Amino acid sequence: MTTGLAEQPPLQLFKESGQREVFCGLTSIVWLHRRMPDAFFLVVGSRTCAHLVQSAAGVMIFAEPRFGTAILGERDLAGLADANDELDRLVKDLLERRPEIRTLFLVGSCPSEVIKLDLAKAAERLNTQLAGRVMVLNYSGSGIETTFTQGEDQALLAMVPLMPSSEVDQLLIVGTLADAVEDRLVQLFGRLGIPVVTSLPPRRSTELPPIGPGTRVLLAQPFLSATARALVSRGGQLLTAPYPFGVEGSRAWMAAGAAAFGVAPALVAEVLDPLVERGQRAIAPHRELLAGKRLFLLPDSQLELSLARFLQRECGMELVEVGTPYLDRQLLDAELALLPPGTRITEGQDVERQLERVRAERPDLVVCGLGLANPLEAEGIATKWSIELVFSPIHGCDQAGDLAELFARSLRRRAALSFS
Ligand code: SF4
Repeated sequence: MTTGLAEQPPLQLFKESGQREVFCGLTSIVWLHRRMPDAFFLVVGSRTCAHLVQSAAGVMIFAEPRFGTAILGERDLAGLADANDELDRLVKDLLERRPEIRTLFLVGSCPSEVIKLDLAKAAERLNTQLAGRVMVLNYSGSGIETTFTQGEDQALLAMVPLMPSSEVDQLLIVGTLADAVEDRLVQLFGRLGIPVVTSLPPRRSTELPPIGPGTRVLLAQPFLSATARALVSRGGQLLTAPYPFGVEGSRAWMAAGAAAFGVAPALVAEVLDPLVERGQRAIAPHRELLAGKRLFLLPDSQLELSLARFLQRECGMELVEVGTPYLDRQLLDAELALLPPGTRITEGQDVERQLERVRAERPDLVVCGLGLANPLEAEGIATKWSIELVFSPIHGCDQAGDLAELFARSLRRRAALSFS
């Protein structure tokens, strides 16, 4: 006689490498510049880079944009001009016109990396010249090095060395949240008796939260590996939990924060259980549509494991395959533990082979990047753009119904377009 546990097949983990079909890290400027209105993101790149950021952000007609591109011309790319001089001149012009800028991010791109333009040195040089008037930081958003969410990881990583040291007991939430969602989570942590809750990135780029041995670091996004490691090396204590998507993940995430401060489980239940019940009620109508539907997640945002867990456990979907660009076990073990036994997980990408599997499996819904969505829709397969999930306020129990609705909407739209 065997136990049920022994019969369960383990997760199936595969690695793939080949052609990738993902956006680069420049994309994250779209949500980072909204978060920190006193910062400016200057991409040092080509017209293609400028076009990507413009189209990802939409055209801003009335507001002065808080991002731009220093375009490397053919002479720069051929090494015939000194791109450093040009960059310094451009930065000075920009700061004269825009005195409200407090932090300037120089963002590297594929072209700046190909010509080996050293933006770390440029930032150092400009910091000396500007003498404290503006803080200049640099990071890479290049498609050679980053997928689109890693752009945020790199931007936050650049800020870590500037965070003041402190021994104060605090909960540090890491990862960009919509302001209203953040306010709500801070209020809930306050009700749980955690008095000091800070955020990285902060709302004002100059008001960086402190870091030190009293800091419990709670990641709001699963794609912040480099930032997490840097915060730990500054003395922070990294809490591990599922991520705050859906009621189950959100409850477990908040409970992990509470446990790190010794909050009694009874108080956690008193504060959070009503939210869980309300969230489950909000999910219910979408679950009716999603339950039993087959889901294939292609690797793109690094949110895939968390979304798979939410859609399978709370919405009743069946997982065909869960792809992720990278699998950081330290940051994702709590999510892996909640996936059903036998789930096929692939790390990395060989896009042609993955598309072959999608076509063979004919799932009801594919979560993927923008570049793959249209061709799959044309083949009659419903899709959900993964990029929409980083632009939408989806964190927390209160947002669980909206999160489920984002996926149900794709199925409803396809049903409405179906003439058969
Ligand atoms: S950084 Fe690279 S991948 Fe991104 S838009 Fe520029 S050239 Fe394209």
